[in-house]
Amino acid sequence: MIISMKLHATRQEIDEVRKQVEHFGYKVHSIEGEERVVIGVVGVGDVTACLESVEAMPQVEKVVRISAPYKFVSKEFRAGRTQIRVNGLAIGGDEFIVMAGPCSVESEKQIMQAAEGVAKAGAKMLRGGAFKPRTSPYDFQGMEVEGLKLLQKAKRATGLAIITEVMSDRDVDLIAEHADVMQVGARNMQNFVLLKALGKCGRPVLLKRGMSSTMKELLMSAEYVVAHGNPDVILCERGIRTFETATRNTCDIAAIPALNELTHLPIILDPSHATGKRSLVPAVARAGVAIGADGLIVEVHPAPEKAISDGAQSLDLIQFEKMMLDLRPYIELWETSRKSEALAAAN
Ligand code: PEP
Ligand code: MN
Repeated sequence: MIISMKLHATRQEIDEVRKQVEHFGYKVHSIEGEERVVIGVVGVGDVTACLESVEAMPQVEKVVRISAPYKFVSKEFRAGRTQIRVNGLAIGGDEFIVMAGPCSVESEKQIMQAAEGVAKAGAKMLRGGAFKPRTSPYDFQGMEVEGLKLLQKAKRATGLAIITEVMSDRDVDLIAEHADVMQVGARNMQNFVLLKALGKCGRPVLLKRGMSSTMKELLMSAEYVVAHGNPDVILCERGIRTFETATRNTCDIAAIPALNELTHLPIILDPSHATGKRSLVPAVARAGVAIGADGLIVEVHPAPEKAISDGAQSLDLIQFEKMMLDLRPYIELWETSRKSEALAAAN
């Protein structure tokens, strides 16, 4: 159940509603917007008596019964799309956003070349891991703080917003100082300590689907971040693990419209990790545009053959430019349909 308070309800009025809910034995989680407070009610059993009682309180605007275990991220909570503002961009709006860059930040020359190349081809955000989750402890673990500084330098040179991975709650403040968007990797999708810390980081979060996670689990993880105070969560489909070995992961392309039915949060597709193979990336990216993703996150390296991580799935700058050109008519169609959707919703 979600309780939406009237605009500018006072602290005392909000506390009265909280107390009433607690009196029925439920827990509350509130989200304080700029104008309005929304209270999520969590608990088991039939909420009807509580709902009817709270509905009668004068300071309450609306009460909505929610069947899903996730509340704030559900479509029942908000029917339209959530737009997430990043550096003058709106993710989930009527512009298709492409994020691109290397798997890892490796050197100043590499990240500057990547940033300039992807910006020229039309990307709006630069990706690059400074803290890397690697399967082997003997593999390159990232340039860490030095990598964050290089990302900042690339941002100053190109104007691209920065998205980079955070692996530990201990690094949240440091990474939030340098990044515009905090990336949570597939391996950390259920790192609940990290998710709670990201609720207070003051930056949008891009949450990647765990490789063996269901959509419901992905939404529950998003709910953690939102319930802890941060409504700006972007979901990312990056392929799941199946019996298939011809591709690195199996791209669950249907997850995009399926998630769109369940949540108002924007959804980005990562065709690079979803396939593991450079030759497959443009076709899967095109599918992402056609099926209604809000954007893409693509691995691009100025010299993929020299990449320290994920070279096999990275496009070079020429291949990325060609992919962007080939995507253009699909993106134009996407943008036209988003604009008419927005018009229809306004009428
Ligand atoms: C990455 O984006 O480089 C990465 C490690 O992705 P994932 O968490 O999806 O494996
Ligand atoms: Mn990678």
